[in-house]
Amino acid sequence: MDANTFSNRVSSLTNDSCQFLKDIGAWNYVEQRRTCPIEEMQVWDGISGARINFSAADLPLQTTEMSRMTENLNLQRGLLKHLSRIPEVQLLDNVRVTAIEKEGEANGWPLVRLSNGQTFRTRLLVGADGPNSPVRTFAGITTHGWAYDTHAVVATLSHAPRTPFQPPNTTAYQRFLPTGPIAFLPLSPTESSMVWSTKTALVAALKSVDPSMLVTFINAVFRLPEVSIRYLHDLLLSSVASRKALTVDEVREEILWRERSHNISATSAYSSALSAGEVGIPPEDSEFLPPLITSIQPGTVASFPLRYSHADAYIGDGGRIVLVGDAAHTVHPLAGQGLNAGLADVQVLARTIETALLQGGDIGSRTALLPYTRARWFENHKILSAVDKLHKLYSTTFPPVVWARSVGLEVINELDTIKVALMITAGGGGGGPRADGSGWRWDVAAKGLENFNSTADTAKVVGSGLVNVVGIGLQRLGNALSQVGRR
Ligand SMILES: Cc1cc2nc3c(=O)[nH]c(=O)nc-3n(C[C@H](O)[C@H](O)[C@H](O)COP(=O)(O)OP(=O)(O)OC[C@H]3O[C@@H](n4cnc5c(N)ncnc54)[C@H](O)[C@@H]3O)c2cc1C
Repeated sequence: MDANTFSNRVSSLTNDSCQFLKDIGAWNYVEQRRTCPIEEMQVWDGISGARINFSAADLPLQTTEMSRMTENLNLQRGLLKHLSRIPEVQLLDNVRVTAIEKEGEANGWPLVRLSNGQTFRTRLLVGADGPNSPVRTFAGITTHGWAYDTHAVVATLSHAPRTPFQPPNTTAYQRFLPTGPIAFLPLSPTESSMVWSTKTALVAALKSVDPSMLVTFINAVFRLPEVSIRYLHDLLLSSVASRKALTVDEVREEILWRERSHNISATSAYSSALSAGEVGIPPEDSEFLPPLITSIQPGTVASFPLRYSHADAYIGDGGRIVLVGDAAHTVHPLAGQGLNAGLADVQVLARTIETALLQGGDIGSRTALLPYTRARWFENHKILSAVDKLHKLYSTTFPPVVWARSVGLEVINELDTIKVALMITAGGGGGGPRADGSGWRWDVAAKGLENFNSTADTAKVVGSGLVNVVGIGLQRLGNALSQVGRR
């Protein structure tokens, strides 16, 4: 792809993941010009507008970035180039695993049959084969979890560069709406990626409309009050259902009317009338919003069903099989943790295998693999359930909960340690899943939670009903965080 064209599948890699890739020598092969640092994050409540901003400066880091965006293709290409330079590695391309069988009776080694006719007898079979893992099925490993009634719509967005009066395009934005969060993730000064998780019916409608209509919707969804977004969604759904085409001009007219009725000034960054790419001094509120989208790169709109799923075990019954990445766990993308957790799995598994080899052990034996599952299963469980709780917390429109979580968010923005903890949960931190689960991140999170809970306690002591609701809101957030923070 040329320098200004980006694939729609991107990931935010935590500093730990980048460090791991550097340590193994693969990062050298990832094209750096096609990666982008995230230096700040703006996260806000779609109903109340309560906002929290994270900055790399809030973290005790050696670097100025919280994470780094890369296209999955760029990373995959880098990894493949790295592997191709290791003589002991044999890569088989364009081949499918067609069947996995057990050799002989109980505790036989897995036989992996390939579409090119080859069969491998495997001392250790690593299932890195994604959410529908055939390896997991073969091993009879069950999973628990559920499908969210949402899909993630992704697209590569084009916009004007930031003006000289604004910070560079290195801020990620995420707005939590009751239908799901929408995220804007920078890739270059003029291109960014979108991950918009929303209800299944709306996904189909959004994918069926003209790109200029989708652009209008995306700009509105970052800007308009929630009540108007709901109205626009209904308008779109009924136009699709009645097959009465809605024109972009009609939608823009509707948005302008709504902006006037919400008292949105035409000179505010929240106004759709503001022309994209003006070079003068930007509106004061421009830092709160991503730039206005001008177009969508052709062919980049796609959607993915979202699931929470966790394998009940990572090792097959008699050993010989181990799961990593999405084969072991899938998580809502709102916190950008899936791939990072998978890389942390790989890091620990590699170390576990190395230890077994050094001790002259059998790398496929259950005993040799147990340290891997001990280090990773509970660690992943904490991340998965924290992210799931955040998703549920923000899906409700019940006013006391909205109020409580909003006050919670405002309070958090003032409390630096808690901010760091939430930043980790939200995936923007220098933290994210760390292979061995150790280090300052979880300590900081735990400390933040202590303060967080004492804020909730103070609220409770004050005692009025509403203040109690704040306390509950804080505690609920605290509980979500504690899944990550308590060690
Ligand atoms: C919209 C969205 C945004 C995301 N953003 C982020 C983010 O910002 N940060 C982050 O950390 N994570 C993110 N994730 C999650 C991340 O994409 C996944 O966690 C990650 O891709 C999982 O990698 P994996 O290698 O385990 O599985 P997969 O990517 O599913 O790869 C599995 C591989 O196995 C192969 N395979 C399967 N069956 C067979 C077979 N029979 N024979 C041969 N090969 C087979 C497949 O072809 C595939 O190549 C996001 C996910 C989504 C949906």
